[in-house]
Amino acid sequence: MNCWHCKNELIWGADFTYEDYCLEGDGIVSTLSCRKCNAHVEVYLLNENIESKTPEEAMKKYTAKLKKDNEEFKKEKNVASKQSKRKHIRKRNSK
Ligand SMILES: [Zn+2]
Repeated sequence: MNCWHCKNELIWGADFTYEDYCLEGDGIVSTLSCRKCNAHVEVYLLNENIESKTPEEAMKKYTAKLKKDNEEFKKEKNVASKQSKRKHIRKRNSK
């Protein structure tokens, strides 16, 4: 892999886990550096992507995750609106 800036060959430094970087999920962060211009390169690779055999499979997983996140968001919204209604009732009763 060559440097983005000077096209010099990058020197591999170390591999870290997502946990080391306080990131969610399971993956690898590879660090590389350029001796010529001192550029520092980090490559983030999610393990989910490694396991998926085809792009279609990866897309399916991604859309399923989006759907799930959306449903959870809706649930939270519902709870929030119920709570605000409750407050409204409480206000009315105190009059
Ligand atoms: Zn460079």
